[in-house]
Amino acid sequence: MFDKILIANRGEIALRVIRACREMGIASVAVHSTADADAMHVRMADESVCIGPAPSAASYLSMPAIISACEITGAQAIHPGYGFLSENAAFVQMVEDHGITFIGPRAEHIRIMGDKITAKDTMKNLGVPCVPGSEGGVDDVDQAKRVAAGIGYPVIIKATAGGGGRGMKVAQDEAGLEVAFRTARAEAKAAFGNPDVYIEKYLQRPRHIEIQVFGDGKGRAVHLGERDCSLQRRHQKVLEEAPGPAISAEERARIGKICADAVARIGYAGAGTIEFLYEDGEFYFIEMNTRLQVEHPVTEAIFGVDLVRQQILVAAGAEMEFRQEDLAIRGHSIEVRINAEKVPGFSPCPGRITQYHAPGGLGVRIDSALYDGYSIPPYYDSLIGKLIVHGRDRSEALARLERALGELIVDGIDTTVPLFTALLQEPDIRSGNYSIHWLERWLDHRFG
Ligand code: ADP
Repeated sequence: MFDKILIANRGEIALRVIRACREMGIASVAVHSTADADAMHVRMADESVCIGPAPSAASYLSMPAIISACEITGAQAIHPGYGFLSENAAFVQMVEDHGITFIGPRAEHIRIMGDKITAKDTMKNLGVPCVPGSEGGVDDVDQAKRVAAGIGYPVIIKATAGGGGRGMKVAQDEAGLEVAFRTARAEAKAAFGNPDVYIEKYLQRPRHIEIQVFGDGKGRAVHLGERDCSLQRRHQKVLEEAPGPAISAEERARIGKICADAVARIGYAGAGTIEFLYEDGEFYFIEMNTRLQVEHPVTEAIFGVDLVRQQILVAAGAEMEFRQEDLAIRGHSIEVRINAEKVPGFSPCPGRITQYHAPGGLGVRIDSALYDGYSIPPYYDSLIGKLIVHGRDRSEALARLERALGELIVDGIDTTVPLFTALLQEPDIRSGNYSIHWLERWLDHRFG
């Protein structure tokens, strides 16, 4: 087992990993930018190293700085968290070349899944159902028109290098296709340096259902059911729950097995998430994330497992601590993302926290790097915390969420908390009856 792990991240996810390390008796090293010198992850880790100035490109994304920090502190492994370098195959290669262990899948698997066209192709060959669409990339408007006519409108044009909901454009009909195609390519080029796009059928009222998988890297893999992440704004998740209110035990077992078998066959190591759109009882693969997800705690809650601990074990060459038959669902869990944003525009709202009080009690978990007097720097993601509740069933989880939101105090800045308080009054949310378009329609209706 490792003696020391470096966490190449910040914020709540850095704390999450430090906590797992501490329980396993492993020392932790935090890295930070100059803007994060007073951040909670720096305070909580056993050691810390400043790796550069405020902009992420010069600090949290600086591969040489992170490798040097490992060498200076003698850390044997790197946990990348999510975002930043977590899905960067070149980084994994560099880490391994320096004799350091990357806590995550092999570079090869990150590379395959990082290119969405290759990912879709690979999954299709492994027997995973996919959204109908173009065979591979689409290079010009004429080809786009032919493909779209073949699958039928509306269609969605997506960047093969895509992520974070960028580089995606919907075309309702042929008249709108050319603009959508050109915009998607331009956005993809600007955001990812790669203009390649592909086309899919645009599903009208799907749910976003993702399957958590875990592989040992030696051909054995399990699934840990699904998360429903349909409540989204601009393709970004806002609230997640597990199990999915619309998914039956039979459907879970069927799609779960397809996913576990697929990752077992490629010898996948560690945590991964296979994302689907789900409509009328059918699952359609959209992408695979080769890392821990923001919303992993809802899965941890219902299965009673520590996914970060398992990631560390597998990376160290040990066995994962469960087999498929050991994994049973207990109750229901919901997570809400607390962002430093002003509703309804969702404009970022960094600033100083004048008062912070975290809720507690049975079935309540807060993953957050906030503290009284903390100044949220303006350079990074606006996620400042996650509130996760667990109940015996969905209605208990909802009641607990409402109660916990009432206890939470974050003063000095605007947050997304009022959004959740309002959502909990909605009959569709209470009954679990929502698709990926529900939230945007609700926001339009309510705030115009
Ligand atoms: P990203 O990597 O940018 O997050 P995804 O492929 O995961 O992109 O898609 C993000 C979201 O975009 C999905 O959760 C869904 O809301 C929407 N989306 C993607 N593909 C489709 C599709 N074929 N039909 C309808 N909505 C889609």
